[in-house]
Amino acid sequence: MNIDLLKRNIDSVHQKIEEAAKRSGRNPEEIKLIAVTKNVNPELINLAFDFGLKDFGENRVQELVKKINLVYSEVNFHMIGHLQTNKVKYLVNKVKSIHSIDSLKLAKEINKRFGEANKTIDAFIQIHTAREETKFGLNPVELEQFLIEAQNLKNINFIGLMTIGTLTDDEKEIRRCFSTLKKLRDDYSHFKSENIDLRELSMGMTSDFEIAIEEGSTIVRIGTAIFGERKN
Ligand SMILES: *Cc1c(COP(=O)(O)O)cnc(C)c1O
Repeated sequence: MNIDLLKRNIDSVHQKIEEAAKRSGRNPEEIKLIAVTKNVNPELINLAFDFGLKDFGENRVQELVKKINLVYSEVNFHMIGHLQTNKVKYLVNKVKSIHSIDSLKLAKEINKRFGEANKTIDAFIQIHTAREETKFGLNPVELEQFLIEAQNLKNINFIGLMTIGTLTDDEKEIRRCFSTLKKLRDDYSHFKSENIDLRELSMGMTSDFEIAIEEGSTIVRIGTAIFGERKN
C-alpha cells in the first residue's frame, strides 16, 4: 500500500469520527480508534504507528502473536475477534484488552490464565444484537447472570460492552443494534463492583462507524477504511 494513501485514509477516518461526534453533540475526544490489522503486514502497522495510531486490533490469536514480535514494542494490540478457550494462554502479556468475551467459560479461562501470571486484563462483554443467528455474543437477557458470576473473576476488569452491527444496508436496523448496546450499558452502569464498571461501548466498523458514534460508541474498530480491502 502506498504511504500517501495510508496517510490520507487515516486523516479521513479521524475527520469522519470528529464530524460524527459533533453531529451528535459529543466530544470527539471521547472516541478511541482501534485500527484493525488482520491481514496487514507488520511494516504497514509500523507506518500507521508513525502516523499517530497507537492501538491495533487483531481477530486471530496466531496472527497477533506472530506480529507482535515484528512491530515496534510501543504498539498496543487488542484482541477483537472470537476467542477459543484453548488459545487464551497465548494472549497473556501480549494484549491491552480483549473485546470478545462471549461466554462464562471463556471468561473463567481468561481469569485463570491472566491470574497465573499475576496480571489483570481490561475486557468487554460481547453482546449479540443482530438478528442473524450466526454472530457470537451473549443475548442481552443473559448479561445480568453473567455479571453476577463475573464479580468473582478478579483478574478481569470488565470495562464495557462490544457488539458487531448487523450486515445490512438498512440503516434503521444497524442503528437498532447500536442503540440496544447503549441501552444495555446504561441499564447496567449501576452494576459496579471491584472489577466491573461498564463505561465503554466498542461498536462501529468501516461500514457503520459513523452511525455507531451517533449512537454512543466510545471505541470504533476500523480496518478497511484505513488499510484498504482485505484479500481473505
Ligand atoms: C475485521 C473486524 C473489524 C473491522 O472491519 P472493517 O470492516 O474492515 O473496518 C472490526 N471488528 C471486528 C471484530 C473485526 O473482525
